[in-house]
Amino acid sequence: MVGLVIVSHSAALAQGVKELAEQMTRGQGQIAVAGGIDDPENPIGTDAFKVQAAIESVFSEDGVLVLMDLGSALLSAEMALEFLEPAQQEKVKLCAAPIVEGAVAAAVQASIGSTLEQVMHEAMGALSAKMDQLSPAMGVPPGSDMTRLPGSNPDADSPCPAEPPGDTVQITITILNRMGLHARPAANFVKTAGRFQSNITVAKGEKTANAKSINQVATLGAGHNDSIVVKATGPDARAALDAIQVLAEDKFGDKEDNIDIPQSSEAPPASAPQKNADGILTGIPASPGIAIGPVAHYTSRMPEVTATLIENGDVEWEKFQGSLDQAKQDLDLLKNQAARQIGADQAAIFDAQQMFLDDPALLDGVKDQVINRKINAESAWSNAIEAMADEYRRLEDPYLRERAADVIDVGRRVLRHLLGEALPGLDFLHPSIVFAFELTPSDTARLNPEKVLAFCTEQGGATSHSAIVAKALGIPAVVGLPQGLGDVPEGTVVALDGTNGQVWPRPTQVQLTELQSRRDRWISRQNALKAQALQPAVTKGKDAKTIEVAANIGGPFDTGVALDYGADGVGLFRTEFLFLGRSQAPTEEEQLAAYAEVAAAMGKQPLVIRTLDVGGDKFIPYLDMAPEENPFLGLRGIRFCLEHPEVFKPQLRAILKASHGHNIKIMFPMISSQPEFCKAKAVLNEVKQELTDAEIPFDDTIEVGLMIEVPSAVAVADQLAEEADFFSIGSNDLTQYVMGADRGNRKVSHLTNALHPAVLRMVSQTAAAARQAGIWVGMCGELAGNPLVTPVLVGMGLDELSMNAPAIPDVKKAVGNVSMSEAREMAQAVINLTSPQQVLDYLNSKYKN
Ligand code: PEP
Ligand code: MG
Repeated sequence: MVGLVIVSHSAALAQGVKELAEQMTRGQGQIAVAGGIDDPENPIGTDAFKVQAAIESVFSEDGVLVLMDLGSALLSAEMALEFLEPAQQEKVKLCAAPIVEGAVAAAVQASIGSTLEQVMHEAMGALSAKMDQLSPAMGVPPGSDMTRLPGSNPDADSPCPAEPPGDTVQITITILNRMGLHARPAANFVKTAGRFQSNITVAKGEKTANAKSINQVATLGAGHNDSIVVKATGPDARAALDAIQVLAEDKFGDKEDNIDIPQSSEAPPASAPQKNADGILTGIPASPGIAIGPVAHYTSRMPEVTATLIENGDVEWEKFQGSLDQAKQDLDLLKNQAARQIGADQAAIFDAQQMFLDDPALLDGVKDQVINRKINAESAWSNAIEAMADEYRRLEDPYLRERAADVIDVGRRVLRHLLGEALPGLDFLHPSIVFAFELTPSDTARLNPEKVLAFCTEQGGATSHSAIVAKALGIPAVVGLPQGLGDVPEGTVVALDGTNGQVWPRPTQVQLTELQSRRDRWISRQNALKAQALQPAVTKGKDAKTIEVAANIGGPFDTGVALDYGADGVGLFRTEFLFLGRSQAPTEEEQLAAYAEVAAAMGKQPLVIRTLDVGGDKFIPYLDMAPEENPFLGLRGIRFCLEHPEVFKPQLRAILKASHGHNIKIMFPMISSQPEFCKAKAVLNEVKQELTDAEIPFDDTIEVGLMIEVPSAVAVADQLAEEADFFSIGSNDLTQYVMGADRGNRKVSHLTNALHPAVLRMVSQTAAAARQAGIWVGMCGELAGNPLVTPVLVGMGLDELSMNAPAIPDVKKAVGNVSMSEAREMAQAVINLTSPQQVLDYLNSKYKN
């Protein structure tokens, strides 16, 4: 039977409530009290140790519900919970119900053998009868706001928020996704639902979720082939369901092939984790490959949080929101970095994390605790995160269960900002095998494949996002190992086989020799695969054309991956990454070192360095960047640099110095007219002159080009081509400016689609102007990395395509599969279509043929 604990400042009150409740249940029930403190002079107060003792006295596997009066009683109850063993903590719930009515209702419910959840639910509803009965006497209609518990928000956790006027319509959908409605498809579902005003719910069996809550949707546990019912009520209900239906047919926009589910033959051993007689550890194979090297330990745990009562809930809430914003900015950066390293599809896992930070199911509860219960934000947030992670852990589907790690990951990030704690470093001096209790997805995305030979953890599963990221980075990994990794001394040479999920913490010489030869065979297989992607991309047929397929990078760190994937050069070096995450601008020398390092890695291959592109959504606190009402239309890219020669000139000097003996090209972002381009070139010429005067060598014939990102640049592309050596089309910005839709605003994401014929026409016009003037033209926005569109871009006359490195092999293959005449035909066809969907359908039909 569920036990009850009554916590009150007054021993007499606690005892009185107990007596009342026992009278209702005729003495059946397990009720303990923790009232007052042991100070005869001043007996009013609460004591966490007393609460702990009371909980333990009525504890059973069925659980304990704790009700408390006010103020420090909450704190004592929370502290008592922390004193309990973790196994007990899971079975104790603190309940915000009113102490008298709640205790009576809970006691009755417990006495009939109900579960802890049912008892709590009953206690929480204990005031409603009283409120409804007294509402006429209070002069308010039943059910109005006045008759709600202070601080309770009827919509906070409700799957069905108050309904806007309009019809209710519903559809039934079968989940086609192999992995069910897990975080990424759920995120797309919530994004789509969020575009509509109507209330939308989604139900699987008995369980109903608010379709605008990522956590509620993901924790529905909807698996492959399950049916869900989506209901919408409101002015745009029909349109909402139509959009959801289309999304569901597209498997909620999830490219599932990215996820390897272990098949039965390669499934982890049933008894994993395991340690056999030879001391070999067996865990879950997470990313294939063999590694041998010294151990480097890494520790990152949820920061310690103490529950305290705060004075001003509004101030605390504001502080919390500041930390949420910082965490969102981190995730933006991380997503950009991950997209460059492992591809945009994989990086979308951080989209889902970002959505957790907007989820009403998570935030409303925290807000209530902070503003109404005056609990400190750290504690309110960590409780909410743990509760949400628990929801995921309880799901049947193992893939969905592993999403708990994402909730913890993002929760930890916010907590660190709240507490002002820095992330632990992941910079290892020598190539090492990382041993950790756990690595979150964002930890894994920060690993440098050159310094991390492999990693193994005690936590995690084969389909955790950490495993997915590790595979994309090509880092062998074993997860879910037995406890005790921490006991292996730092620097010990160990071996790991990520394909079989085995780790040798103390390998013998014989084992090392055998593993080394297996590693050599594995590496030569990998090299053979990569060699295919190293070939140039040439269209088929007699008028064959070679297309340069290059990589987008953010710094020296990315060149290894770019070359591995077969990049023919770098088509976009986003130099702003050198400026981010610091407290002052990199000096000219620091920049020179970075450019020279990239140039050395690229050898004679072309390297297009884009000058600083800040503004818009890239705000750098230490630069003199005034807040703007419309930053995307403000002092962005070249506009900022022309206003700030103290930033622009050192960068140009560093690029020019690095250009000596290399194939560097300079590219200006956000150019909107010929005079603006000429102004930027004039500054470059000044710097060239200074270097010449100082007898510092540089490439005097360095090519200078610009990004085509705004419609005006397309309109005057012929004029720009007179002055430029090349164009590179920034399809990301070009799309947002052509469509008049902010590229970061989810509500208009249906408009920021680079496949829109309006955008494709702009690409075609730019290419025609470049061809006319005899200069080369490339593309470095996301569209360039979509192999479905490759024939169209080639057919329009693009000479170079630059993208996230992992997309290179597929794009090279797509170039080789098309002839120039077919490509031109496709380019002509798409610009006469009317919508991105038509373009997509056309390209898919071509692909099938
Ligand atoms: C673009 O706009 O397409 C582009 C490549 O630049 P960024 O994404 O860095 O703005
Ligand atoms: Mg851009």
